[in-house]
Amino acid sequence: MTIAKSLLSLQDTDQALALRRRDYREVETELKSEGGLPELRDSCERIKKRELESKVESARLDAELALLKSKVTELEARLYGGAITNVRELTAIETEHSAARRSLAKVEESIAPAEVAAEHARQQYEVMTKELVEKESAWETRQVELRREMARVGTEFNEMLQHRNAEAEEIPAEDLARYTRLFRSNRGIAVVRVERGVCQGCAVRLPVGEITRLRNASGPIPCSCGRALITEG
Ligand SMILES: [Zn+2]
Repeated sequence: MTIAKSLLSLQDTDQALALRRRDYREVETELKSEGGLPELRDSCERIKKRELESKVESARLDAELALLKSKVTELEARLYGGAITNVRELTAIETEHSAARRSLAKVEESIAPAEVAAEHARQQYEVMTKELVEKESAWETRQVELRREMARVGTEFNEMLQHRNAEAEEIPAEDLARYTRLFRSNRGIAVVRVERGVCQGCAVRLPVGEITRLRNASGPIPCSCGRALITEG
């Protein structure tokens, strides 16, 4: 095999290896994401907390309502009970009474929204918990698939890598070094063919002198674009 052919073959292998590695990383990333379960669990906990807070608020409002009601009743009993003997006392109780009634109205207004919020959170929690259970079960299956896939791609990759190393061993060190440098800097393309005098890497027509040089060379030569080595197609 000529050096050019060996390099082109090595490049095919390296490109295939890069694809396998990408597949492997994709599987790895999906495994790490755990099917979005950690985020969903967090959301569940947040909603549960919101439900509890809403319930606490509801209970607090109920207690406050009861207190205010008895206070209003008590003040009304004093106001209309006939025991008040002076205007100062009457005015003070009247002021207290209207303040208590205003607070009572405010609390009454807040009770329904708090109950709605608690109920809303409860329903949301229910839906989310159901989703979590379903997703957890789906993830069990998916996880097994992914682990199997990861092992398969990993084995394939390792076998291919061995083949790659054997191929590389056959190539003179200098050519291999040049190839490796270009493969890395040129995003997986180091060697390209020249077809009808045109470099297939950069689409530039080669000067006649370059074509002659290429024909006389024992292996690929650098293209004037500097991005790749060229060889006759
Ligand atoms: Zn070129």
